[in-house]
Amino acid sequence: RAKQAGRDTFRFFTAQMNVEVLARLDLEKALRRAFENGEFVLHYQPKVALDSGCVAGLEALLRWERPGYGLIGPDMFIASLEETGLILKVGSWVIDEACRQIGQWLRSPVGPMQVSVNVAGRQLAEGDVDGDVIAALERHGVPPELLELELTESSLMVNTERTIKTLKDLKWHGVQISIDDFGTGYSSLAYLRRFPIDKLKIDIAFIREVTSNPDDAAIVQAILGMAHSLKLHVIAEGVETAAQLAFLKRNRCDQVQGYFFSRPLALPELEALLLNARQMQLPAPAILPYRK
Ligand code: C2E
Ligand code: MG
Ligand code: MG
Ligand code: MG
Repeated sequence: RAKQAGRDTFRFFTAQMNVEVLARLDLEKALRRAFENGEFVLHYQPKVALDSGCVAGLEALLRWERPGYGLIGPDMFIASLEETGLILKVGSWVIDEACRQIGQWLRSPVGPMQVSVNVAGRQLAEGDVDGDVIAALERHGVPPELLELELTESSLMVNTERTIKTLKDLKWHGVQISIDDFGTGYSSLAYLRRFPIDKLKIDIAFIREVTSNPDDAAIVQAILGMAHSLKLHVIAEGVETAAQLAFLKRNRCDQVQGYFFSRPLALPELEALLLNARQMQLPAPAILPYRK
């Protein structure tokens, strides 16, 4: 009976695997075509400074406007872009597109806007991130201070020497560097100090229950204390409630980002927000439409 079950399980897995392999190949093909057809777009989520209540900057987040499917979020396709190496081309495009947008705002009533861009591990390890960034800044007439790169702890673990060189070069030009999803990796702040970092983004995992779980509250307080004594700025992501906001404000977090203020927005909604509500009043949430 065990043998029988084993054979069935084996057969089940091969059939299942074929379906998965085919689905993966379809997705790869679709992603390649999506890039060629210009179906990728950036949405932007505001970051709010806790001292002034103003929009301190934006995070650019990739979306796929897939004909017949609607808007697809990055969790559905970033891994596939990384596996296939397509992330190198798409990542360069994201950097250029963000700089183009910053440049356009700079010469419009919106004015100077700081924008952060997510950079994948593979881009850092194999791409030419500093070359891409410097070319894009020049092409669009953007001061380097207006661009920030978000890197994860794990992406700093591969090809470390090359990454340090890349980041030092960018830092020298004035580009800001932040660590995304901080606290979920295995690196200590002592290790991260080898990299020229300006800012930590505390992962949503610690923010979710920060007002109800004393361990999470202690972790967030410890991160804030350590980061500030190392002169790093701190932003909390995934802030959804007034109680989370109050906790972060009380503990001197510098910036917050999350649905409490705004979801990531397409350009028309975002520009309306930037022009009409430059001063996001704390603690009232901005009630904004969102399409996903
Ligand atoms: P991330 O960089 O940590 O971005 C934050 C994610 O949290 C975004 O998801 C954002 O929409 C979501 N978020 C923001 N506020 C809240 C909140 O209050 N509650 C909850 N539950 N979620 C919130 P999104 O846009 O789906 O992006 C997911 C991840 O995909 C990003 O995580 C980032 O790792 C990756 N990603 C997005 N755009 C790019 C890109 O251009 N390049 C690369 N390499 N990765 C990207
Ligand atoms: Mg990010
Ligand atoms: Mg994050
Ligand atoms: Mg993330």
